[in-house]
Amino acid sequence: MGCKRGAAASGVRKPDHAIALDTPGRLCRSSRLNVSLLLHAPLLYETHCHTPLCHHAHGLPAEYAAVALARNLRGIIFTCHCPLPDGISADVRMAPEEYNTYVAMVAAARDEYAGRLDVRLGLESDYFPGIQPWLDKLHARTPLHYVLGSVHTQTKYYRTHFFHGDWFAFQQTYFTHLAEAAETGLFDCLAHPDLVKNESPADWDFARIRPHIERALDRIAATGVAMELNTSGVNKALPEMNPGATMLKLMCERGIPVVIGADAHRPGRVADGYATALRLLATAGYRETNFFLDRRRQSVPLAEALASLT
Ligand SMILES: [Zn+2]
Ligand SMILES: [Zn+2]
Repeated sequence: MGCKRGAAASGVRKPDHAIALDTPGRLCRSSRLNVSLLLHAPLLYETHCHTPLCHHAHGLPAEYAAVALARNLRGIIFTCHCPLPDGISADVRMAPEEYNTYVAMVAAARDEYAGRLDVRLGLESDYFPGIQPWLDKLHARTPLHYVLGSVHTQTKYYRTHFFHGDWFAFQQTYFTHLAEAAETGLFDCLAHPDLVKNESPADWDFARIRPHIERALDRIAATGVAMELNTSGVNKALPEMNPGATMLKLMCERGIPVVIGADAHRPGRVADGYATALRLLATAGYRETNFFLDRRRQSVPLAEALASLT
């Protein structure tokens, strides 16, 4: 993985195998083939994108899939916002009774793109203390390929319960919850893992919060859970990817695997910023990027990943 103390670090899951390329007609059979054969082979997935069921994303799964195909991705994993009980932040997510519709919507796109693009079902699930039993049941309802864990600091529910007027305290709470999320075992990867910096950019002082981040990263590294490099951060209040470059380096030092995702809420953002993200990973010391299929981590060397993008 590069700069790490280890693939190494205890508890870090190793990829099951080098990426197996098995979509007929588009791909070589093995990543062990000469690199020159892979230069234009699709390798990457959009790992984080949404559907209209969350009320703030636009476009049907097939429209996202069309962009993924045009950008020479190997596949796309839908990870819409999970349903929650008791009307919690219901305005930005599917209702519990819509979950089957979500599953069917992704399945329809999978059928439509069969043989051309690998369309998979995932979920972006909110973490906050007390929600574990609900998510345990939800994740067991139907097989998921990838589960993102998110601490969404901007929701009314989260703000109401955890913001008490002190931004620095709120930031500390966020990173504590991020570490707790990893330790639940519910998630493959933690989404946009410094999202809280956008809540009040003027109160984001990396040097000040760094010890808290490092403690959280130590806990996360011990679980083997991956963390996301979310390219949509450049469009947020503090315009840089989530996480920023220094935190990414701290993650690399701990051997934490990274998954790139665009967090697309409209088709045009599928794989947006991927080339920049791959270069950021290299700068941080990483040698590979990752994605999950069947909830198992797959790795792709950075140079091959970059060459595969159109
Ligand atoms: Zn969203
Ligand atoms: Zn999110």
